[in-house]
Amino acid sequence: MKKIVNYIFSYPKIPSYAKMSFQLFHIESDRVMLLLLALQWVVATFITSIKYATFYYGFFSGAFIVLPLLLLYKHLKGERYFRYFIAVAMMLFSVIFIQQYLGRIEMHFHVFIAMAILTLYKDVTPLIFAAATTIIHHIVFNYLQLYEVSLFGMPVMVFNYGCGFDIVILHAIFVIIELFVLGYIVRLQVEHTININESQNQVNELNRELEHISMHDTLTNLPNRLNLNQKIKNVLLNAEENSKKFAVIFLDLDHFKNINDTLGHDIGDALLKTVADVLKESVSKDTLISRIGGDEFIMVVSDFNNQNELTSTIQNLLNNFRKDLFIKGYSLRLSASVGISIYPDDSKNIKDLMKYADIAMYKAKGDGRDNFSFFSQELNKKVHTEVDIVNDMQRAFHDNEFKLYYQPKIDVKSKKIVGAEALLRWHHKQKGFIPPSLFIPLAENTGFILNLGKFVIQNSTQAIKRFNSLGYKNLSISINVSTRQFQNTNLYQDLKESIDDNKINPTQLGIEITESVMLKYIDNALIALNEIKKLGISIHIDDFGTGYSSLSYLKKFPIDTLKIDKSFVDDIIDKDESGRLLVNTILSMGKSLHLKTVAEGVETKEQYEFLRDNGCDTIQGYYFAKPMCEDEFIKLLEADKIYS
Ligand code: C2E
Ligand code: CA
Ligand code: CA
Repeated sequence: MKKIVNYIFSYPKIPSYAKMSFQLFHIESDRVMLLLLALQWVVATFITSIKYATFYYGFFSGAFIVLPLLLLYKHLKGERYFRYFIAVAMMLFSVIFIQQYLGRIEMHFHVFIAMAILTLYKDVTPLIFAAATTIIHHIVFNYLQLYEVSLFGMPVMVFNYGCGFDIVILHAIFVIIELFVLGYIVRLQVEHTININESQNQVNELNRELEHISMHDTLTNLPNRLNLNQKIKNVLLNAEENSKKFAVIFLDLDHFKNINDTLGHDIGDALLKTVADVLKESVSKDTLISRIGGDEFIMVVSDFNNQNELTSTIQNLLNNFRKDLFIKGYSLRLSASVGISIYPDDSKNIKDLMKYADIAMYKAKGDGRDNFSFFSQELNKKVHTEVDIVNDMQRAFHDNEFKLYYQPKIDVKSKKIVGAEALLRWHHKQKGFIPPSLFIPLAENTGFILNLGKFVIQNSTQAIKRFNSLGYKNLSISINVSTRQFQNTNLYQDLKESIDDNKINPTQLGIEITESVMLKYIDNALIALNEIKKLGISIHIDDFGTGYSSLSYLKKFPIDTLKIDKSFVDDIIDKDESGRLLVNTILSMGKSLHLKTVAEGVETKEQYEFLRDNGCDTIQGYYFAKPMCEDEFIKLLEADKIYS
């Protein structure tokens, strides 16, 4: 019931954009109706009032109905209830017609007006008002006529008595006017309908366009993240129903930023479009491909039978990237890193699947890019630990949880400690010892290594000052310097300041750098290293042999020492001759370049003896001593032991 009432009193359902047009339409309809009322009043009631001398019931009571509406029009036009007033007024006019002996006209006038209002307003409520007024006045007047009752001394009128020629003429005039009005109303209706249809079509088209834009990436026209989120829900439902698997594949281009930075955004954009094409070519039609930002794409593959099949799809995809791409005259080589998570093995939750694919993608990047990696729970754990560590590093730094340890270096000839490598240690208050192999790479990624690096410089030079004050003035302490510190021009300044502050001899300090410094920042590194060398600090190449440095580099850079990597030292005790051969080659290379040689990670007597016998200058390793805190190191110095 409530529904029906609501329906009756609500508009026929029209879209909001059409409301304005409707309101204008109604104002025009109101005007037609008012004109009709005014015509009835002036023509019908005025003329008949003269004829029958019924001014009082005819013309004046007509004015009573028409004038308020004409006055109200200005203020109420367009209002819905104004239409009800008009409807009621129309119907009341029939009362006046009867008074004016215009009974016949009145009869079909009702029907006509009801029809007109119905069609004109496309709104049933005025019609209900009209019908109600008609019914009420018929009941009242039929009663009055039947029983010839007089109200307020009005003359009792008998319905449908014979009429004169004047009435016939008036009747004809009305019929003609009615036809005109009806014609006009029909015209309004037609125009309005066309109007609505046209704007409806326009709006529909606009909506479609808007929807497309909001759901697609404008550059590649691939579905965007919003779209992906919706579509992947269907994929999930489908997989749930059919107990099938699907894979979420996260793809990120390698070094895309470089292309954008060096060749400009135009080329970058063109490249992204090409990438979209490569993706479409590389996977089946059923694969959902979307670009979710910058150079990141997510694909959802559901049509694979086993992991091998999926792997070969991905390998194929990575292969397609490895080809030369021709873009606006450039031939570009591109690669991508891909991470994969699988429903339901890794998770049944879409958000997790996306996150896991992202984590796996980072693993692929970490493994050297141009690569793919499947998500695993171990990976997840590792990432969580890493995030914890990164978040905790700042606090730990302020809480003094970082300390420098010293691992003695033994001179092969004098068999005495000639120095040490300073190594960072993190003793976490809750988690205990966190190895540098874990936190150093993270600190390098986040840039926190710059703080740690400065800390190491300051603390090692302060320690050297303390060693000096104890009488150990010829020790050479080496610190590890990360590649990141070479990008940062403060390195030289920090070293110089610390040396000056502690008034130590710069030759007591050495830096250990990896070959990657020389390769990555050739020009900058050369300048920086030359300056540092000029200060008097010695320069050691760490992990020597594991990088790609050629002899020409070694000649170009101001190097003092080659540090043979532990992996080669390990190979000395192999049955196979080749390990020993390699170490020998490095040792003789050092000799011919007039560089000192240090072997690190020496754990056995056999290794030590081989190195000693083949001319290595310095030995560092567990065989002699592990890294230790400063106090222990001082105790060792005091013991003045002979190592052999
Ligand atoms: P690295 O520069 O190659 O340091 C040598 C590593 O070998 C040290 O590990 C040392 O404890 C270990 N080691 C020395 N002798 C032996 C041995 O006989 N056997 C075995 N198994 N290991 C031995 P640690 O201290 O865990 O450091 C790991 C890496 O962390 C270092 O490798 C270095 O790359 C980095 N690191 C440590 N401290 C710093 C630092 O202050 N700054 C920077 N940038 N990196 C640091
Ligand atoms: Ca080192
Ligand atoms: Ca090393």
